[in-house]
Amino acid sequence: MKKILIAALCLATFAAQGQKDYTKYIRTTVGTDSEYILSHGNVLPFTARPWGMNHWTPQTAANGEPWQYVYDAYRIVGLKQTHQPSPWGGDYAMFSLMPTVGERKFLEKDRQSWFSHKTEKAMPHYYSVYLAEHFVHAEMSPTTRACMMRFTFSAGEQSNVVIDAFDNASYIKVIPEENKVVGYTTQYYHNGKRAPDNFKNYFVVRFNKPFREFEVWQNDGFVSQSEVTAKRTGVVVTFSTAQNERIEARIASSFISPEQAELNLKSEVGDKSFDQIVKEGRDEWNKYLSRFEVRDSKLDDLDNVRMFYTALYRMFIYPRTLFEYDATGKMMHYSPFNGQVLPGYMYTDNGYWDTFRAARPFFDLFFPEWSTGYLESLANVYKESGWLPEWISPGHVDAMIGSNSASIIASAYLNGIRNLDMATLWEAVDKMAHNAHPSISSVGRYGIKYYEQYGYIPSDVGVTEEVARTLEYAYADWCVAKVAQALGKDKQTVDAFAGRALNYKNVFNPKWKLMSQRDSKGNFATNFNPIAWNYGFTEGCSLHYSWSVFHDPKGLAALMGGDKAFVSKLDSVFLTPPAFDVSGYGGKVIHEVREMNIQDFGQYAHGNQPIQHMIYLYDWTSEPWKTQYWARQVMSRLYSPTSDGYCGDEDNGQTSAWYVFSALGLYPVNPGTGEYAIGSPLFREVVVTLPDGKKLTIGAPNNSDERLYVNKLTVNGQPYNKNYVTMKQIRGGGQMLFDMSAKPNTSRGTGEVARPYSMTDDKTLK
Ligand code: CA
Repeated sequence: MKKILIAALCLATFAAQGQKDYTKYIRTTVGTDSEYILSHGNVLPFTARPWGMNHWTPQTAANGEPWQYVYDAYRIVGLKQTHQPSPWGGDYAMFSLMPTVGERKFLEKDRQSWFSHKTEKAMPHYYSVYLAEHFVHAEMSPTTRACMMRFTFSAGEQSNVVIDAFDNASYIKVIPEENKVVGYTTQYYHNGKRAPDNFKNYFVVRFNKPFREFEVWQNDGFVSQSEVTAKRTGVVVTFSTAQNERIEARIASSFISPEQAELNLKSEVGDKSFDQIVKEGRDEWNKYLSRFEVRDSKLDDLDNVRMFYTALYRMFIYPRTLFEYDATGKMMHYSPFNGQVLPGYMYTDNGYWDTFRAARPFFDLFFPEWSTGYLESLANVYKESGWLPEWISPGHVDAMIGSNSASIIASAYLNGIRNLDMATLWEAVDKMAHNAHPSISSVGRYGIKYYEQYGYIPSDVGVTEEVARTLEYAYADWCVAKVAQALGKDKQTVDAFAGRALNYKNVFNPKWKLMSQRDSKGNFATNFNPIAWNYGFTEGCSLHYSWSVFHDPKGLAALMGGDKAFVSKLDSVFLTPPAFDVSGYGGKVIHEVREMNIQDFGQYAHGNQPIQHMIYLYDWTSEPWKTQYWARQVMSRLYSPTSDGYCGDEDNGQTSAWYVFSALGLYPVNPGTGEYAIGSPLFREVVVTLPDGKKLTIGAPNNSDERLYVNKLTVNGQPYNKNYVTMKQIRGGGQMLFDMSAKPNTSRGTGEVARPYSMTDDKTLK
């Protein structure tokens, strides 16, 4: 009787958990209608497990092309294991499989097939497509480090699978007696060397049927060998198949060794059926997606739900897991910094210039147990390379600016994640604050000696993007000061960083009341133009970057002339037509410029990261309803669950994190404060399951497209007039209940006391 009862209870629990499948709302192809001159996301339709070591994508372009899958293409050339974090950085360590029929052909142009999106199922855990020219239904479903593919050859007869190890020095070996192909793939096609010389991606592909024949490819043609090492290698294996026969491929890889690739295959795929892998993938995704349950019985637009879960999916794609488990179950990783195999966590493929803003803080808030491992990875990057990461893929990449690793550490530590190796992380963050990497400008602080000498980086000392660097360094210094304070460092240390955190004031041009270039004599640029891109800024102009004072909006408002002047400066971003001066790029209209230009949001450039927090700065003013208005405008006009669904580069989950936070009615303007600025929730109800299982209900029963303003807010039944909630309030669970209105409530949240943190008011930093 007892046994039966337990079984019944288990079933009931399972049924409750298994009730909702959120993956059905997700389209991995959202944002894939992108090209060099205009980005609608610049993402690939990845099928992967959350933080998967490998992503799998159909490819419409030859290996080596940055835009590997574009929505308006007609032909598929392969199903590929990829590690590409952005088309601008390019791929590394990739290989692909492609089923064909008839004569054995190898190159993309010879093996490609027409396809239709109508035959595509592009889901987080499963992808399938009909390859029309080969009469093949191709399917794939990955695990973290492996994948199963299934090819249904409807024509029968001579059926082939091309394995293309591509890359710049690869290896292929066919082991026919085991129905197996092993190999490795190595380097990158552009953007230089990003790993030690011994870097390899070892792979194994095991089929469920013996080969009838096979032919190995070496550089430009087939060779009569079963094993080759060359610039480009591959193989075409041939099967005798009956009509509609299914050929299955079990695939795994490792960055550690060929033996580890076999182990990954055994432990993650083994003898499981294809359908079982699909189910496990769906369950794993739902484990995370179900933490955010949109309940909206009067839903106006299913597209909002689709966009919400699609954005949530994107946030779990990066960073990439780079650790593997050895035969004893010990966590090991290949170090892309020193080439050794070492114990412990390692994640890669992330650009902090993008993700420090909202993508990484999201996990500190909602998945702190995951962030703990992530911060161990950060400490390992420092131990193995002597530097903290700013852009890694898989090793340090020389891209973008800032010292935003300080924000990553502050966000985790100051949001209460305490089981971290702070001895190492403090040493690291302190070193980064005072040093520039000898050869990689993105690592450490490029131009630091000028920053320390002048309190800003002058425009005439040969350091580019100097205003943007000054602003981001000043914010990083605030992060370091607060971490130092929390660690109980001496007052002198805290004061020194707190002093530097005010350096943003040194590039504030009082004539224009905007940030601008300033030379070493202290003179501001006389030819200043607020809409001129580049001049001292990174992928933006002064109107975009003048808001990068995350830690002291009140101080910034004071510089601009106080509350009303600050509001009107914020307003001016939307009111200034989207004109631009690109003389700083030699007249070239880079894609971020065009993306700002075409959205009809004035100068507000949501397609790039620097300005993405700016809408929430109205919460620091007497007119917080403008945050609510603009947040809803951006959600409804600049996001849609379509192939052109983003308004610029999605960038490692950041632009998706903006949407997910905003849809919850929250945004982490300064991730180190543990405060979340309040916007306008998108749904009538979302139930968030918190790390310890508590629930937070974010309700807005009378919400609609028109009723987008916050009239009243109660938190756990108490009237709540502040423009922010804290990490502690969110983690405590309960209910945030919004009363929405079609007209702004011009008296709610307007006073000083309602405003979130500003350093100006921080008595502990005096
Ligand atoms: Ca960007």
